[in-house]
Amino acid sequence: MAKIDYARAGRYFLLFDIFKGFALGFRYFFAPKATVNYPHEKGPLSPRFRGEHALRRYPNGEERCIACKLCEAICPAQAITIDAEPREDGSRRTTRYDIDMTKCIYCGFCQEACPVDAIVEGPNFEFSTETREELYYNKERLLLNGERWEAEIARNIELDAPYR
Ligand code: SF4
Ligand code: SF4
Repeated sequence: MAKIDYARAGRYFLLFDIFKGFALGFRYFFAPKATVNYPHEKGPLSPRFRGEHALRRYPNGEERCIACKLCEAICPAQAITIDAEPREDGSRRTTRYDIDMTKCIYCGFCQEACPVDAIVEGPNFEFSTETREELYYNKERLLLNGERWEAEIARNIELDAPYR
């Protein structure tokens, strides 16, 4: 005949595990929270965070991009498509700058290849869409992103500069 474990049976009878669970729950109820109240609070982001793409302008409003196509050449996902034409003033600028964000793997090579810090991956990671078409970014969309995030992008580039 199997020996009865009275101590264990007593713990079961007195609902010991349930009270132990409540005690643990109460301890974490009053402890400092490990999570944040997203989206009202957000955790810190590294200056090297690679989020949504943006095309930047110089402070005088001129586009930084000189249509060298280095970003297009280095992109391992072949997500970037650029067409370029010389302007009347002789400078070369893009007439088309598209990024297919459904192909992009956020490697950051385009940003690293750019000689004038024109194409960058900004801090925005909240850009979910409802359709695939919305993820085909064109030049206007990318320039708008640049205008919207310029302050944060410029600050991140400055913070990262000593490590480049
Ligand atoms: S982050 Fe990488 S995959 Fe995405 S566009 Fe730039 S180079 Fe291409
Ligand atoms: S974004 Fe930079 S790397 Fe790409 S074409 Fe323009 S200047 Fe060249």
